[in-house]
Amino acid sequence: MTTWIRGGTIVTEQETFPGDLLIGDGRIRQILPRGKDAQAPSADAPTPVADEIIEAAGRYVLPGAVDIHTHMDLDVGFARAIDDFSSGTVAAACGGTTAIVDHMAFGPAGCSPWRQVEEYHRLADGKAAVDYGFHGVLQHLNEEVLSALPRIADQEGITSFKAYLTYDFRLDDLSLMRVLQTAREAGLLIAAHCENHGIVTYWRERFVQEGKTQARFHPASRPPEAEAEAVHRLLSLARAAGEAPVYIVHLSSRLGLEEVRRARAAGQRHFGAETCPQYLLLDESLYEDPREGLKAIMSPPVRRKEDRDALWSALTAGELDTVATDHCPFTFAEQKQRGAADFTRCPNGAPGVEERLILLYSEGVAKGRLSLQQLVAYACANPARVAGIYPQKGVIAPGADADLVLLNPEKTWTLTTAQLHGKADYTCYEGWPVQGAIERVLLRGKTVAQDGRFTGKADGGQYLRRGRSSLA
Ligand SMILES: [Zn+2]
Repeated sequence: MTTWIRGGTIVTEQETFPGDLLIGDGRIRQILPRGKDAQAPSADAPTPVADEIIEAAGRYVLPGAVDIHTHMDLDVGFARAIDDFSSGTVAAACGGTTAIVDHMAFGPAGCSPWRQVEEYHRLADGKAAVDYGFHGVLQHLNEEVLSALPRIADQEGITSFKAYLTYDFRLDDLSLMRVLQTAREAGLLIAAHCENHGIVTYWRERFVQEGKTQARFHPASRPPEAEAEAVHRLLSLARAAGEAPVYIVHLSSRLGLEEVRRARAAGQRHFGAETCPQYLLLDESLYEDPREGLKAIMSPPVRRKEDRDALWSALTAGELDTVATDHCPFTFAEQKQRGAADFTRCPNGAPGVEERLILLYSEGVAKGRLSLQQLVAYACANPARVAGIYPQKGVIAPGADADLVLLNPEKTWTLTTAQLHGKADYTCYEGWPVQGAIERVLLRGKTVAQDGRFTGKADGGQYLRRGRSSLA
């Protein structure tokens, strides 16, 4: 099966140029520039032999986007994320994301790290519509766990593990030091949820005691200082462990960002930082309505306008590595209502896997805050590098998987829940005006989404055995 994508504008991390793509057996075979270095055939020249021709005039042709922070089918004990690997990856495909790396939920207390590896294969294998991999999860630490990590990396291609600095299964500093040493020696990446557990627990308990249980107390219970302290501590421990490779997920605040900047300025390498569309586009005024505010209950919370502005300037300046989603949807009508009388009982998380790429284009590129090259870097290439799946994913280059997005920059529309494919009954971006539309998405050369419809195979996704992270 060969496909010729004709007359589009190809966007890579380095440049934007008119050109054609030839695809064969699921991979990009040739890039044929038009214009002054023309290699693409003109109207009267013989055409390349292809089984399928896709007209891309007036469209940007981008690499398929890579989302390395999702929580499909997440089981938090009292609630389960409403998107499983099936609905969640259909939503991903329709939004131009052709590969995800999902963060595993915690297993039962004391379980071996292999337990969740097996559980996640059971949840995802044969059910994903885009290519998928997993980050391992750390929930307690002993010699058995530490020695399992390199073996899981070798046997499963799971080369990153997540540590939480808050919640019941948080790692203390000594445990973090041990796992960071193991990670450095074995070339593994430690992803970390950075919030100070003492600060968060203190305020949650105190607000509940004082009857301050409306949604607006959620951001106050997880202040930016909690994030900044944990980011600082993680980076310090990583440095003390001989520059162990670490990745800060969902950075949300200006204070947290300052810690990232400080470490970069001090010359620390082997670390990366991710933010998410919700921290770039939403703000804490959403929590003022006690009912609607439940929709945006997530950790960390969305913050003030100045935090948003700081994160945008960091993206413009190239100070962050990736934009992922933390896609973790619960229904508003039922699941989120657990928090109606007490925000601390609301399942944390929101949908976003389908909205990410087009919102980054619309709010970033169309509004002049990001170049097309930066869009590709943050949404495609850097996530692939961090996850150890580059250059199979995240790049338009001969030999790479033919994961591609055709984006029409001229189209304007309004985002509503009804257009989305996940199972959540809401989007945080309801009524959002959008510039640009994702018109076609290819996964390994096959069209999996077109004009807002999923056209792929429900089980068309392949498991990604990942290599070493670029940060390791
Ligand atoms: Zn998460």
